[in-house]
Amino acid sequence: MASGKINVAVENIFPLIKKFLYSDHEIFLRELVSNATDATLKLKHLSNIGEATVEYNNPQIEIKIDNEKRTLHVIDQGLGMTAEEVNKYINEVAFSGAEEFLNQYKDSAKDSGIIGHFGLGFYSAFMVAEKVEIITKSHKDAPAAHWTCDGSPEYTLVEHDKTERGTEIILYIDSESDEFLEEARIRELLTKYNKFMPIPIKFGTREETREEGEGDDKKEIKETVDNIINNPNPAWTKKPTELKNEDYTSFYHELYPMQFEEPLFHIHLNVDYPFALTGILYFPKLNNELNIQKDRIQLYQNQVFVTDNVEGIVPEFLTMLRGVIDSPDIPLNVSRSYLQADGAVKKISNYITKKVADKLQSIFKNDRENLEQKWNDIKVVIEYGMLSEEKFYDKAKKFNLFPTTDGAFLTLDELKEQTKDSQTDKDGKLIQLYAANVAEQHAYIQAAKDKGYTVLLLDSPIIGHLLQKLEQEDDKLGFVRVDADHIDKLISKDEPQLSKLSEEQKETLKPLIEAVVPKEQYTVQLEAMDSQAAPFMITQPEFMRRMKEMQQTGGGSMFGGGFPDMYQLVVNVNHPLVSQILETKTQKKQERLIKQSLDLARLSQSLLKGEELTAFIKRSFEMIK
Ligand code: ADP
Ligand code: MG
Repeated sequence: MASGKINVAVENIFPLIKKFLYSDHEIFLRELVSNATDATLKLKHLSNIGEATVEYNNPQIEIKIDNEKRTLHVIDQGLGMTAEEVNKYINEVAFSGAEEFLNQYKDSAKDSGIIGHFGLGFYSAFMVAEKVEIITKSHKDAPAAHWTCDGSPEYTLVEHDKTERGTEIILYIDSESDEFLEEARIRELLTKYNKFMPIPIKFGTREETREEGEGDDKKEIKETVDNIINNPNPAWTKKPTELKNEDYTSFYHELYPMQFEEPLFHIHLNVDYPFALTGILYFPKLNNELNIQKDRIQLYQNQVFVTDNVEGIVPEFLTMLRGVIDSPDIPLNVSRSYLQADGAVKKISNYITKKVADKLQSIFKNDRENLEQKWNDIKVVIEYGMLSEEKFYDKAKKFNLFPTTDGAFLTLDELKEQTKDSQTDKDGKLIQLYAANVAEQHAYIQAAKDKGYTVLLLDSPIIGHLLQKLEQEDDKLGFVRVDADHIDKLISKDEPQLSKLSEEQKETLKPLIEAVVPKEQYTVQLEAMDSQAAPFMITQPEFMRRMKEMQQTGGGSMFGGGFPDMYQLVVNVNHPLVSQILETKTQKKQERLIKQSLDLARLSQSLLKGEELTAFIKRSFEMIK
């Protein structure tokens, strides 16, 4: 019998292991299953190259709980270890690995989710166990070895009579870690971390019914089969040519069992130089805010789940997507700030951005109708990408679509082409009109359409930022919301309307109106317009409104604090009602006409609410009596 001391220098490593990574205790199981997988894959490799003479067959990894003995077992049929190898890999190498890891990260162990993932390896078992045993039989011709360690630096290493090749790790679960003796908890962990590992993982058994025979002979047969936790060949490990659309969809549901909505598009990632990365990304329907947090992109390393916090690896605008990324090249046990500065990681992020842009470009080219149909569900992601990644912006400008209020979808170039004759103003600037809500801005949209203008429907929360960027880039292009001014001024042409009122009459009219409307909210503006246009109309200057909206969605703040809600009351002096107001002799009646007209204008901008709305309705009934 051999016994020894692992390393006197860091006698307190076991308490340290228990203390650090406290919140991450559960990762021990992933580490042990990873080791079992590695050992199995190594054996496969050796038998492929003819170095191991044993039969590989169809090895499994088995997880077992023994509640009486309070043990958890991880059993593999991999290459096993000889006693010398246990000495080398467990007593020396693994230990120094764990030690190094703790020294490096004990101060920062808690500052990010990714720390604590990987690096601790085999010794992470001591986070949950008071004693650990290894019983292992090498594929080489050597007796099995039995290593035992009770959490102090002393261990024993003796021979064992195990005859089947492979390794069994036995954890004597400590009293604080009872949860890891619960079947449901272990199942949860296996599903979380090992759902797509490459070797089948057995955890208990389950009943299965299958049908046998034909017609009258047909009978149901119940049998007990191994309960395999994982899918060893997930879609992302296959070639895109091997997969049909349905395969991508069903993999999406396998990944997110609680997600009932179908994904909109998928993007298969597959690169091996200058870094290795595979994966599938999905554009989800983003109508349910709650799921954005829950079903996120999952990061794997060689089919082992690492994290679903991909911040830094995937550009921010793509964190709204779903799917998997698998790369052995992403450094895992480092801090996030390091990750962001890491060259390889930056390359990965650029690659993903490029792939997403290329995929959208190809859908635009080959299946534009499909892109148009789904545009409203994905536009926020694209707009966000255009604002945050210059390279994406350059590509996306060609397929970014502008929906119109008539249900068409135009690229910027197409839009310019369609509007250049009718919507260029007197200074040669091409003005694009848009609405944010068809129902609420109906009157304004209609007025613009009557002029033959194209009205876009831009309703995403960050659109103001994008319009700002497009305008900055092209000073001959402007975007103006339909209710930003009255129709003749939205796109100013050199065709002044004649005014029916004289300057003198206007000077009389203005103070009359100003006396009735609340000054803090409205500035009165007299305009000579078409007599068919509304007599009173409320507008909000584009600049003010856009700045306010941009401030609400971040950035774009030029005034620090909140913006006041300032509106213009545009009075059409050519409308007969306005002449009537001017001619009315009794002051009371005059005031009532102004008040009523103002309220109607507010009503059409959804600005009349509460008490004022009630008063308006009451007054209106009085008038029609
Ligand atoms: P790592 O897996 O990063 O090498 P670990 O601490 O997890 O570090 O494991 C240390 C070493 O112990 C492994 O490299 C391997 O040689 C050996 N080992 C651990 N578990 C097994 C196993 N189930 N079968 C064979 N060898 C194993
Ligand atoms: Mg390991």
